[in-house]
Amino acid sequence: MKKNSKHFETLAIRTQMERTHQKEHSAPLYLTSSYWFESAEEAKSLFAGEQEGNIYSRYTNPNNSELAEKLCLLEGTETGFTTATGMAAVYGTFSALLKQGDHIVSSSAIFGNSFSVITEILPKQGVDFSLVPVDENEAWEKAITPKTKMLFVESPSNPTLKIADLAFLGELAKKHELILVVDNCFATPYLQQPTKFGADLVLHSATKYIDGQGRVLGGAILGKKQYVDACFDFVKKTGAALSPFNAWVLSKSLETLAVRMDRHCDNAEKVVDFLDQSDDVEAVLYPFHHSNPRVEIAKAQMKKGGGLVGCLVKGGLDRGRKFLNALEMISLSANLGDTRTIATHPASTTHSKMTEEERLAVGIEAGFVRFSIGLENADDIITDIAQALKASR
Ligand SMILES: *Cc1c(COP(=O)(O)O)cnc(C)c1O
Repeated sequence: MKKNSKHFETLAIRTQMERTHQKEHSAPLYLTSSYWFESAEEAKSLFAGEQEGNIYSRYTNPNNSELAEKLCLLEGTETGFTTATGMAAVYGTFSALLKQGDHIVSSSAIFGNSFSVITEILPKQGVDFSLVPVDENEAWEKAITPKTKMLFVESPSNPTLKIADLAFLGELAKKHELILVVDNCFATPYLQQPTKFGADLVLHSATKYIDGQGRVLGGAILGKKQYVDACFDFVKKTGAALSPFNAWVLSKSLETLAVRMDRHCDNAEKVVDFLDQSDDVEAVLYPFHHSNPRVEIAKAQMKKGGGLVGCLVKGGLDRGRKFLNALEMISLSANLGDTRTIATHPASTTHSKMTEEERLAVGIEAGFVRFSIGLENADDIITDIAQALKASR
């Protein structure tokens, strides 16, 4: 693990690449696809890996390296690198570390495209899978076979915000010598550091809270060197490199991650309190909500409850749609982790391809709405939700 005595906020701001002779205060942007060599000998030694340095931007670029270095320090991982998108990180990890005949156990409630990779693409590569409820420890243990190589989990889960017992999964992975991979996109390293609980790899879609302003795509694979090196070899060869411009944006974004996450969480708590009191709402889903059966585990793993809030609007699918159409300020979008509050209705959009039975099995009821609470004034967010609930009655 990288050792550094400075605090999270300071590391996110003061971790920086070497500056040029121009003495830039803020990081410069390196728009260069390749780098020149002093001599044929230097080129040979760079290619042979005998000396460190940039060769080509599909491999490394100062902007990408700065972002990766920061993320490693914030997550407390040994090493790591950046990828073009979050899905490049997910697919790159699976492809680099799983081979024909292997088996992966994943929680069933995960990001839609990660679900497709596991259930549609990996089987074509000869990798078998089992899906288990994220919050049932026994189910994880039972699903392990002699061929299992990896456990994959998101916590809080998408979209119903269920909590994995990361310490349990860390122990389980150790006991069976499996690679524990955690997609930490919802929590960010500010709220949760999965390596503390035994994760071998931490994945990010930097597109969400790390950018935080809905601008660029990006991802990262962070963790133990033996696994990260194999993933880097796969990703650099197959081409899912992050653009240096996106890396530059994302590195600047990290400078404000802590203050943004604090405000996302504070606003989310206010929205949760409002929904709790509302007669139009059947249930509120939030990691730190008293109704969450795993609230104690959530509090042991996470610094705060996060920016995502789920609620069950009374009246099912029709009411859910009416409610969304009645929102005036809050955006309807599939993204999350933006400054703008976003509402999503999984039953009619992201999870509409599932049957009702499949949806209910992962807790997506017809009236379920997911909010990604933004950084607007909390009173304005609540006013919009209140008027839309009233209009949809
Ligand atoms: C968005 C998301 C991804 C995929 O990230 P992209 O940057 O869109 O490729 C993966 N996991 C989770 C939890 C996500 O929310």
